[in-house]
Amino acid sequence: MAALSFSTAELDAATSLLQDLIRLDTTNPPGHEQAAIALLERHCRAIGLETLVVGAHDERPNLIARWHADPARRTGRPLILSGHVDCVPADPARWTHDPWSGHHDGTHIWGRGAIDMKGFVAMAFAVIAKLKRENLPLTRDLLFVVVSDEEAGTRLGSKWLVEERPDLLGDPEYVINEVGGFTVHRDGRRFYPVQVAEKGVAWLRLTVAGRPGHSSLPSRDNAVSRLARGIEAVSQARLPWHPSDEARRFLAGFAQPRGALGEKVASLLCHPAAGPILLPLLVREPSRRASIEAILRNTATATSLGSGGNINVLPGAASVDIDGRLAPGQTTDDLVRELEEVLRPVLGDDFALTVLQDSPPVSFTTDTELYRAIEAALGEADPGGHVVPSIIPGFTDSRNYAKLGAHCYGFYPLQLPEDLDFAALFHGDDERIPVAGFHWGIRVLAGMLGEFLER
Ligand SMILES: [Zn+2]
Repeated sequence: MAALSFSTAELDAATSLLQDLIRLDTTNPPGHEQAAIALLERHCRAIGLETLVVGAHDERPNLIARWHADPARRTGRPLILSGHVDCVPADPARWTHDPWSGHHDGTHIWGRGAIDMKGFVAMAFAVIAKLKRENLPLTRDLLFVVVSDEEAGTRLGSKWLVEERPDLLGDPEYVINEVGGFTVHRDGRRFYPVQVAEKGVAWLRLTVAGRPGHSSLPSRDNAVSRLARGIEAVSQARLPWHPSDEARRFLAGFAQPRGALGEKVASLLCHPAAGPILLPLLVREPSRRASIEAILRNTATATSLGSGGNINVLPGAASVDIDGRLAPGQTTDDLVRELEEVLRPVLGDDFALTVLQDSPPVSFTTDTELYRAIEAALGEADPGGHVVPSIIPGFTDSRNYAKLGAHCYGFYPLQLPEDLDFAALFHGDDERIPVAGFHWGIRVLAGMLGEFLER
């Protein structure tokens, strides 16, 4: 189709929708996404999409809006544009503008969810509305799926849909979701990570026993002090390197513009013995170092504590929950074994590690028509930029869609200036989205889909 050009009114409508979504407080917990889902359903109906709102609870619904391909032209399985409308909490006292204001300061829209990920939801809707107005002859069904409950683990959102109502998702071939397509500035160069892999999750509980008694008689066996020693051991542990193909490609993608030396350094960082030693020498900036480490090893972070209730009673047991994340190729058992080795020298055999919840790492091939179309669209939008297949240390709804056999990519195109760091905005204070970069993303996504969906 001919290149799409968006009018100012069309772009302004997308900006207003984003502001309206931010103003509906969907902090999870408790979520209460129903108003946001209802607003989007009205918008979808107004442009002629077939809509369905489903979920385990009325207050935590999910929207499935569908645009059917003409059966005579249908050649492919559905493509899903997926977004979540719940957000992580925000403390207004720490923000320049109210996190639920959707404040427009002339260049940015401020608010919790501006980036993660009401921005994409508004963007995807604007693109679908445009393609619909242009009467794009689809060769596959296009689904717009907006879910609840991503931030608290996806249980009532994409996990529920995939497990309870996969029939509504129509055997998708592709899912486009968050965490990719934004500008990363490094040493004067621009990179566009496109997410093709996610680490796995292994949420564990470490429990140590102690002898109950009166705490006026101190005991070496105190469960709380033993647990503290265990936590300290976990936090100091340098778990082994598990370089994966996903991690290698990611590091190589960022190194490639720096030539042969850069590529050599990237491959050394992946070396199981040399990598852990070289990383602190080669990457000085702590947050960059942490993000590289996170993709090369399993991680385990103690978060939530539990023990007795009385100040004057020695508890019979104390526990801590550990947020474990698995590198590609790793399993929960692998991480449990690594942590047992760390804990045994300080706790002996007298501790238990139990699995609260887990899901394996996921990754998707880049050898698909859609990945190539994404690469081409970003290359055209920023000819000087570099597209890199990326892996993220967290999880998204893609871990559930993966179970449907879909290829899931993080592609939420966003042109970010050098002084706006995506990682800092994501779940951070003063979350905001540059309006020009948001509109740029709308044009990039529309250009890519406009071409891809009529193939
Ligand atoms: Zn998100």
